[in-house]
Amino acid sequence: MLDSLPSPAVHPISGTTVASRRHSAVAEIANRGLLTDTSPLCGVIDVDTLDELITALVSAYADVPGVLHTVAAKAITLRPILARFAESGFGCEVASPGELALALTAGFSPEHIVLDSPAKTTSELEYALALGISFNIDNLDELYRVDELVTETSRPLPHIGIRINPQTGAGAIGAMSTATLTSKFGIGLSDHRDELAELISGRPWITQLHAHSGSQGLALSHTARGVQLLVELADDVNRRSGRKQIRRIDVGGGLSVNFESDETTPSFADHREALQEAAPGLFDGTYEIVTEFGRALTAKAGTIVTRVEYTKRTGGRPIAVTHAGVQVATRTVFMPESWPLRLEVFQNDGQQRTTPLVDQDVAGPACFTGDMLAVAHPLPLIESGDLIALPDTGGYYFSSHFSYNALARPAVYGVATINEERRWFEIRAAQSVHEIVSEAGTPTLTTAPLPDRVAATAAS
Ligand SMILES: *Cc1c(COP(=O)(O)O)cnc(C)c1O
Repeated sequence: MLDSLPSPAVHPISGTTVASRRHSAVAEIANRGLLTDTSPLCGVIDVDTLDELITALVSAYADVPGVLHTVAAKAITLRPILARFAESGFGCEVASPGELALALTAGFSPEHIVLDSPAKTTSELEYALALGISFNIDNLDELYRVDELVTETSRPLPHIGIRINPQTGAGAIGAMSTATLTSKFGIGLSDHRDELAELISGRPWITQLHAHSGSQGLALSHTARGVQLLVELADDVNRRSGRKQIRRIDVGGGLSVNFESDETTPSFADHREALQEAAPGLFDGTYEIVTEFGRALTAKAGTIVTRVEYTKRTGGRPIAVTHAGVQVATRTVFMPESWPLRLEVFQNDGQQRTTPLVDQDVAGPACFTGDMLAVAHPLPLIESGDLIALPDTGGYYFSSHFSYNALARPAVYGVATINEERRWFEIRAAQSVHEIVSEAGTPTLTTAPLPDRVAATAAS
């Protein structure tokens, strides 16, 4: 039933819409019996939609010769999907040893990877230098550490950058705002303005500047202002060093996604236009450009689908008990105002319900009261055995599983149009109960000694 994913080249973009494809995917999930008692919840990535998003970004920069688009791995830690980005000519932005290993096994070449963790260990930095992986230094302590490492290596150096916090302020969601005055990310531009240009121009091995003014809830003009400041700093460094020392500018990601409808607004073209307007120097040929989008490249391509196990009425309100809750929609459950999701109701044969709207609660399976996907939400009256779809969940939802109640990571399927036919693939198997048990540690407390740090240090 499930084959391996076709390569992007043989795969035509179909004439259907994001919504029509999603609705047919839910019907197929119903008809193929993909939701069972052992896996009553799954995810689906529509590869046609993913390809459309990839194409939209590539087209927005089609006239820019030196651009490397990377996908932010944390948005979608699914290997076949990362591999699709690699096959489409993308690079990958990573921020941990796990993400880096995923990127390498998904087929990204080291020179197309950018490492951005704020807490890189010495071994991680050495590994990046050994493989030729670009990285962005987060703070002055790290800068001094890299000072020593670059003198020790005889290999050609990758693009080594500095992450700048433009300190342009917060967007609509505090926890997602990376460019505030006191954000934990990067070196504060206004804190260190003159010192920074000097620190950088004194280190010819720094060839890249980076800013990621994230994320969801940030206005385009806000992101663009950050990039403008970054280009000004790059120009300043190059003036001081009397040559083109900074060769690449990494503008980060952070394009907001519209979770209210199937429209992709703002678009990648809108984002590029905002950058062009605020920082024309970015496009005058002086600099190569790196982008690092996550959510905007992936959200619209994914849907969570759950079976409704039971319905009941409590305090007069209808409640549907489902299998999708805090384990798969963590941010939505904990911060419903910041991360609302649409809900669509389907009968068990896959037909979308269009009956009059009734205020209902939709609950997840976890054992705490707040595990709700929706409260007093107007929806067609839900019945046991129905399916509920959560659109726009392709970014972060499948990569940020929360193991509360030891609830399993759901399976994720892929669907793509090949020769006018919708074909299904397995992207990730569901976590099994056996895996949950074996990841929970050894069966009993053993007396085996812990590794002896003193002895290990003495031996090395
Ligand atoms: C998370 C992250 C991104 C991607 O952000 P999106 O809002 O998903 O586009 C890009 N760069 C860095 C450094 C990040 O931490």
